[in-house]
Amino acid sequence: MTSQVSNTSFKFIALGAGNEVGRSCHILHYKGKTIMLDAGVHPAYQGMASLPFYDDYDLSTVDILLISHFHLDHAASLPYVMQRTNFKGRVFMTHPTKAIYRWLLRDFVRVTSIGENSILDKDENLYTDEDLVESFDKIETIDFHSTVDVNGIKFTAFHAGHVLGAAMFQIEIAGLKVLFTGDYSRELDRHLNSAEVPPSSSDILIVESTFGTATHEPRLNREKKLTQVIHSTVAKGGRVLMPVFALGRAQELMLILEEYWSQHAEELAGNQVPIYYASDLARKCMNVFQTYVNMMNDDIRKKFRDSQTNPFIFKHISYLKNLDEFQDFGPSVMLASPGMLQSGISRDLLEKWCPEEKNLVLVTGYSVEGTMAKYIMLEPDTIPSVNNPDVTIPRRCQVEEISFAAHVDFQENLEFIEKINATNIILVHGESNPMGRLKSALLSNFSSLKGTPEEVHVYNPRNSIDVILEYKGKKIARAIGNIVDEIQKENIENIPLETPFEDGDKKEEVENKEESESRSEKPEDVIVSGILVSDDKNFDLNLVALSDLREHHTELSSTLLKEKQMIAINCKPELIYWHIRQMYGDVAVLEDIDNVTMQLKQDRDRKPSDSMDDGGVKLVLQIIGDIKIFVTDSMVTVEWTQDLIGDTVADSIIAILMSVDSAPASVKMSSKSCSHEHNNEDGHLEQLESENNKSWKVKQVVELFREQFGQSFELALDNKTEAIKGKITMGKNNAEINFSDMKVLECNSKPLKGRIESILGIGADLVATLC
Ligand SMILES: [Zn+2]
Ligand SMILES: [Zn+2]
Repeated sequence: MTSQVSNTSFKFIALGAGNEVGRSCHILHYKGKTIMLDAGVHPAYQGMASLPFYDDYDLSTVDILLISHFHLDHAASLPYVMQRTNFKGRVFMTHPTKAIYRWLLRDFVRVTSIGENSILDKDENLYTDEDLVESFDKIETIDFHSTVDVNGIKFTAFHAGHVLGAAMFQIEIAGLKVLFTGDYSRELDRHLNSAEVPPSSSDILIVESTFGTATHEPRLNREKKLTQVIHSTVAKGGRVLMPVFALGRAQELMLILEEYWSQHAEELAGNQVPIYYASDLARKCMNVFQTYVNMMNDDIRKKFRDSQTNPFIFKHISYLKNLDEFQDFGPSVMLASPGMLQSGISRDLLEKWCPEEKNLVLVTGYSVEGTMAKYIMLEPDTIPSVNNPDVTIPRRCQVEEISFAAHVDFQENLEFIEKINATNIILVHGESNPMGRLKSALLSNFSSLKGTPEEVHVYNPRNSIDVILEYKGKKIARAIGNIVDEIQKENIENIPLETPFEDGDKKEEVENKEESESRSEKPEDVIVSGILVSDDKNFDLNLVALSDLREHHTELSSTLLKEKQMIAINCKPELIYWHIRQMYGDVAVLEDIDNVTMQLKQDRDRKPSDSMDDGGVKLVLQIIGDIKIFVTDSMVTVEWTQDLIGDTVADSIIAILMSVDSAPASVKMSSKSCSHEHNNEDGHLEQLESENNKSWKVKQVVELFREQFGQSFELALDNKTEAIKGKITMGKNNAEINFSDMKVLECNSKPLKGRIESILGIGADLVATLC
């Protein structure tokens, strides 16, 4: 299932919830990082068949797994992933999700466990209680609105509405932002706030499509319908069965019913019609709900504050752990789990009540394809008995669907999608048809952007099919060290600063270039030369000057390259010393066996060093930093550390040494006594020097340009004026330089001209006589 992807490719694979509702599980891969979203089961299947397609991906490569909320279709295969596969990543969920997940999954293990009476194969058991306990301890929690960074994967949790603890995750890898909504709702209900829009936009949106293009009836209408249909059923002596998921929407429905029962006590035969909530988790979860009241909306918080009682303990609703304590004498309202009527309390009640016409099955949640909750809505004549597959039970009861599923409808989804502003939208968590309709509706909604850079692409991938998106993002590099001054200087000359400096740092945009030293057609661009240092762990990019590299990136094992060049030379050491001094002024004398430099300097007190044991080396000189010159009678060795300045100076030294033999000054010098006192008053030397100096200087500067511009540089001799000229051509930019007077003749690019002038400056410094 893996495809070849480049470094700029973002890859998405749905291992579940691709063109289906259930077994939510997605893989994101970008820049070598792998994120898994959710690990659910499919409610319509059992055992291994209910799992996402884990075999289609190497789970050992997953860095982090984020669980959006506690619903079984998003979380129930997590212990399997953590304990029964080669997965070794870190797992995150919000605090309330973790608290509720614990109880829910224990129940899930019990329900699906292979107890002695189970008809399931032993292999069908996905995991055990022990797996659950072991995995539970390894789950890490994330607070809403906090950002966690795991080796360069940054992710932030936002409220998703839907159920207590439900989170959306905004994930950022190397500047690419992906938002995963999970299941979400945009409607303020009785206990939860609606989903938030993250403050920053995202490049890619992975969004649920449960309701496709359907439109919810207004909340008030639905509440009215709900209470009316329940009221009329119990008034006729009927029983109302509301299959619910143990936690989440059940609490919302209870808040509605509690309110209605308080307001209509008289009509409901003086509260003689009981409401039950049957789930063996009910009570345990009530405590969790109370603990997290602070994460719910203002209404419920106020209720809690004012009464100081658990808002989820109701006057009109009784909790039933199981049906043993239930006395089924007359009309009643029963909220019972599980929500899909596949087995358990709700299924038992369905089979018991469905033959009677006055009873009502009221479906309020989203019914997954392939489950009894979905099947019953077709109003079949009979239903199969779950405990006795040979028996069918007649269905005569009423069936109603009034949705309180906390998923967005089309209008809510569209408004949210527009706010996220992503150009790539991946639809998940929806059956094929509603998902396909949503895709078409979104494409037509964004059709005006077609062909523009903002064009919106919508994908509705099937399970295990890769979606590969090319992401050519801008790289933002942080300039640090001396390069900041350079940028600042250039900026002041060109445009005002847009970004204020912070602690000497400035952010500078550099587009996908290894080196920022680049040509540009826009004169307002600041061109700086430096090295982009990318941190593989966190994807931070730093732009530093070469000379600052060691100081700012001590973690880099930078290598100092020592250069060494040997030149066979046949002249006296003092002559070499003289030439070097001509160029560089007072050079440091590290060794001088024969006292030649002292003779030249007339510094007769200086004692020869006795630490010298390099056979044959008579003179050691040091120039600018660590450039060393070792002189023997027949050989000169130049040693230096490779960098821009070192290389340039060393080159010029070598050039001098090469010409020492033939230089007229040398001839003159060689014929003179070595005890000759060197100073500038020597008329002969001065004259000879000026004859040669100019062309030598030009040669040095030309060499410098060759090095800097390579093939873009061309040398030309102006026959008329005998001036030595240079031409630089870089794309549309070109320049002409007169080396005779070291001036830029013409240049159509300000940055290029600046660069040339600075090289002329360096050249002038290099060839200037310093003594
Ligand atoms: Zn859900
Ligand atoms: Zn779901």
